[in-house]
Amino acid sequence: MEFELPLPDSCAFASDIRAGIMRPMTRLPSLATLLLALLALPAHALDLGGNWTKSETRNLIVYSNAHDFTTKAIVAKLERMRGALGHIMGLRTESAVPTTIFVFDGEPAFAPVRNAAVGSHRTEVVGFFTSSEGRFFVAMENDGGAGGDHVVFHEITHSLIENTAAGLPLWYQEGVAEFYSTFTVKGKSVVVGSIPKAFVDTILETGLMPLRRVFAIDTRSPEYNGAHAGPFYATSWIFMHYLLVGAPQRAGQLATYLALLDAKKPVDVAFQTAFGTTPEQFQGELWSYVNRPKLQVVSYTFPDLNAISVPAPVPVESAEVGRAFEPMLPQAAAK
Ligand SMILES: [Zn+2]
Repeated sequence: MEFELPLPDSCAFASDIRAGIMRPMTRLPSLATLLLALLALPAHALDLGGNWTKSETRNLIVYSNAHDFTTKAIVAKLERMRGALGHIMGLRTESAVPTTIFVFDGEPAFAPVRNAAVGSHRTEVVGFFTSSEGRFFVAMENDGGAGGDHVVFHEITHSLIENTAAGLPLWYQEGVAEFYSTFTVKGKSVVVGSIPKAFVDTILETGLMPLRRVFAIDTRSPEYNGAHAGPFYATSWIFMHYLLVGAPQRAGQLATYLALLDAKKPVDVAFQTAFGTTPEQFQGELWSYVNRPKLQVVSYTFPDLNAISVPAPVPVESAEVGRAFEPMLPQAAAK
C-alpha cells in the first residue's frame, strides 16, 4: 500500500525533534586521543592504492577509485537523497563544510581501511561514518550495486542526522539510517520505508530484541558489533518504521521521548511519559505490527528531483586522498 503525505505534515515530526535536541557539535576527540591516534597509526602507513578521482558538489566531496560511471551514479543518488531528506525530515542538508565520502571499489580495496579504522575482525562492516571537529566523513565499499545503494543511503543518513542534531541515541540513529537505506527514486517521486532485505530473515529467525535492551545498547555493546548485530538493527528499524509510518495515533510521541532522554530522564520515566505504556507492553504492539500482512511505504513527489548536475570526476593523487582520510583513523566508529 502506498500513500502520499503532504510535505508540511511530514516535516512537523522532525521540527519537534530539533526543537528539543538540537545543540552544537561537541563530540571532539580529546587532545590525548588525537596524539594517541597520531602515534598509533601514521597516515603514510595506509596505502590507498591508485586510480582515485574527486567529485565536488556544494555539499559533498566524493573520493572514489570506482569507475567514473559508478562514481557519477553514486554522487547523483547522494544529491537526490540529500535534497529529499531535507524536505521529508526537516534535516539540515546544507552544511557549512561539505561531507567527505570515500568510495572503495570492492571488498579488496575497502578491506585495508576497514581493518585500520574498525579492526580486522569486523569483516561484516561495509561502510562507516564518523564526525571530527564538526566535519563528516563516510567510507563505504561499492559492491557493484548488489547492496551498494543500501550502504550509500544508510551512511549519508548518518551524516544528515548528525548535521542536524548531535547526541541522539544509537537506536534512533541506526533505526532512521535503516529506514532511509531503501530510498528509491521512481520518476519524480521518492519512496521510503521499504523493508531492508536482510531484516526479514533476521526477524523471522530471532524475533525482536526487547526494547529495554535496545535502548541500553551503545557502540561498545557486543550486540552492536560483529556478525550478530542484526537483531539490534532490525528491531531499531521496525521501531522507527512503526513510529514514522505505522502509528499515526502516536504522532509526536517519539519527539517527546527523545527530548526526555536528552533531559537525562530515566528510560522508564521517559518512556511512560511519552508513550503512556511500558517498553514490555509496547513490544507486543510492535510484534503485532511486524505481523501485519503488509507494511506501508511512503512516497513523496518532487518536481525538481532530477534537476541536479553531477560534475565529472577529476583524477587526484592518492596522497591527497590519504590526507583527506586521516580524520577517519583510528577513532572512527563503525555504524
Ligand atoms: Zn549505521
